[in-house]
Amino acid sequence: MEIPHLETRWDYRLRRESCLVNLYPHPTTLSKAYVDLVKAWGWKSFTIIYENNEGLVRLQELLKAHGPYEFPITVRQLGESSDYRPLLKQIKNSAESHIVLDCSTERIYDVLKQAQQIGMMSDYHSYLITSLDLHGVDLEEFKYGGTNITAFRLVDPDGPEVRKVVREWNLSEAKNKKGEISSIIRDNNTFVKAETALMYDAVHLFAKALHDLDTSQQIDIKPLSCDAVDTWPHGYSLINYMKIVEMRGLTGVIKFDHQGFRSDFVLDIIELNKEGLKKIGTWNSTEGVNFTRTYGEAYTQIVEIIQNKTFVVTTILSSPYVMRKEASEKLTGNAQFEGYAVDLIHEISRVLGFNYTIRLAPDGRYGSLNRETKEWDGMIRELLDQKADLAIADLTITYDREQAVDFTMPFMNLGISILYRKPIKQPPNLFSFLSPLSLDVWIYMATAYLGVSVLLFILARFSPYEWDNPHPCNSDPDVLENQFTLLNSLWFTIGSLMQQGSDIAPKAVSTRMVAGMWWFFTLIMISSYTANLAAFLTVERMDSPIESADDLAKQTKIKYGALRGGSTAAFFRDSNFSTYQRMWSFMESQRPSVFTASNVEGVERVVKGKGSYAFLMESTSIEYVIERNCELTQVGGMLDSKGYGIAMPPNSPFRTAISGTILKLQEEGKLHILKTRWWKEKRGGGACRDDTTKTSSTANELGLANVGGVFVVLMGGMGVACVIAVCEFVWKSRKVAVEERESSLCAEMANELKFALRCQGSTKPIRKKGRPCDASIGVDDGRFHPLGSYTSYGFVTNKEPIN
Ligand code: ASP
Repeated sequence: MEIPHLETRWDYRLRRESCLVNLYPHPTTLSKAYVDLVKAWGWKSFTIIYENNEGLVRLQELLKAHGPYEFPITVRQLGESSDYRPLLKQIKNSAESHIVLDCSTERIYDVLKQAQQIGMMSDYHSYLITSLDLHGVDLEEFKYGGTNITAFRLVDPDGPEVRKVVREWNLSEAKNKKGEISSIIRDNNTFVKAETALMYDAVHLFAKALHDLDTSQQIDIKPLSCDAVDTWPHGYSLINYMKIVEMRGLTGVIKFDHQGFRSDFVLDIIELNKEGLKKIGTWNSTEGVNFTRTYGEAYTQIVEIIQNKTFVVTTILSSPYVMRKEASEKLTGNAQFEGYAVDLIHEISRVLGFNYTIRLAPDGRYGSLNRETKEWDGMIRELLDQKADLAIADLTITYDREQAVDFTMPFMNLGISILYRKPIKQPPNLFSFLSPLSLDVWIYMATAYLGVSVLLFILARFSPYEWDNPHPCNSDPDVLENQFTLLNSLWFTIGSLMQQGSDIAPKAVSTRMVAGMWWFFTLIMISSYTANLAAFLTVERMDSPIESADDLAKQTKIKYGALRGGSTAAFFRDSNFSTYQRMWSFMESQRPSVFTASNVEGVERVVKGKGSYAFLMESTSIEYVIERNCELTQVGGMLDSKGYGIAMPPNSPFRTAISGTILKLQEEGKLHILKTRWWKEKRGGGACRDDTTKTSSTANELGLANVGGVFVVLMGGMGVACVIAVCEFVWKSRKVAVEERESSLCAEMANELKFALRCQGSTKPIRKKGRPCDASIGVDDGRFHPLGSYTSYGFVTNKEPIN
């Protein structure tokens, strides 16, 4: 009959043609609001509890938005029975802490109450309730539990619009019932239900549309017969007026899209805290979620919750983090323990104002994931079972653990290293005087010595200026003599190498060049040797069979292992690096097992092993051990870099506050003080301090790389000497050839070369010319005789012939 029909409830049927206008937010858009909120929180996995199929339709966008590679979403139906505990228990056992609850407003209280009874209303649980009327539910009992309960609302019962409407209403009510004593006083709670507010808005919308229609055309009212197929002629016009209207109502701005749906609306995000439901943000279809609560407000709120809470702290005994206190009387509670981690939690609790109880993890393990059963053990298990709120120990932050639990900022940085016995002091070597130079340098030196001696011998024979008159008194000798025989050459070079010298002196430029270069070489070599020898004699030589992880991996004689079920073992197990993979296969294959139940056991094995066992341990723990046990040392550097953090159950609201406190303690220098106290001062710290400094200095033998340059200079010098010798040879031969005019230059050179190459005889006959000579010193008598000692000795003779 084309009578306009106004609806104010959730309705998924999309009837575009009808005379229907629905003021309830459009289902698809509303569903998007849930998706946006879940995404804004970063929930990876969650469980949807729904009541009927309508709920599933309502949440279908949420189901669709979940990617195929993400964590699974569990979907559970509430069922008819009013006992939801079995279902909730199953959800609890699945360790789920994010829950989306879609049920009628009347059942919300019962579901939450029963969840509370079975322990599902802890600090680590979060509920997103899809009802827009959560503010109508009595949440008094859940205010202090710390559970995160969030919902959307369409109308703010304490908002200015509602207050204005209620005030006007009560005024008009009072006017109408003037004189009557009991007037009906309405309060804001009248509009607690979204449907009531929507009804109010619908009436106003209808009134406005009717008014608009009335002003534009004459509305004639005539009865319609139900029997006859009769329609109201103004129906569609009125509907159209309603759809184009844009007005402010109790549920925000009312406007419809071109299909007539209310898809543009704003929702408040409300969260339960100590004071009741508080608005923490808004959602609208264009911008999505917008949290209006500042970081500071959220932080303050969490700090308020933390105060006066008593946290259960799980830990394991591991020096110096948590140790049993030594006392004559029996200690109980937290007083039984002491150590770095105990002091750390004490400092944090002092800042944030909470109490704590320390409990040891029953299996004494850190926490590792069993790849087959997918179950965690150790402290991580305690957190996941919510038997503990915090895990404080030398617990390494790893990827696997971070997926399961929440970690704070690291409070200590470290890496894996090797614990091994200290290198044994080597007894002094009988031939330790050879140590300053490496073997190759010794060999090169010996070669250089022989080479230079031979070269000197050859050049001396070759050079005409090394041939002397054996009897200076005889100015016309028959033979000339060369002092550089092979033995003399060897003697000359060894004399200068030993810094002693000899009575042989080169006279030609070429041989002097050789001698000069050799002296330079010996100067550098002897001073380097002397300097390094001093270092060698003062340093104790240490003998260590392994110096790095590579050395360990290359051998099988020294066994090595790590803590079972710890992050160190996991590092080798999961590594892609071939050395570490090899080390892991070696460790796994060893019988008896090389893995230990605790770090203490590992340290004992290294001590007892006397060099046959090395333990892969974290650098901070190694530091602690080597401060006290002087037989042990850290070998090599760190294999990785990571940190220890405080772990807490997933979704813990306290992470930010505790992380912030750790940073604060770090900046104040408290963490450093704690480290010094527990590493260097308490329980026998600092026992090996003198020892460690001694071993740190070492001397290395000089290799070719250190002294190679001197050899190069020597070789260069030898080359230059050869060139000079050739020049001298050619020069003298030419001179003789020109003067005697009996032979050509080539013949003269060939003659001389032949003699030089005979390599024997240190005397050389002189070829005499027919004419007698009246030779005197410095007078060129045309004969072949070298200059050399003639000039240098300076004989004075008369002009008489000597013979
Ligand atoms: N701190 C390590 C852990 O958290 C223990 C280790 O493996 O050395 O597992």
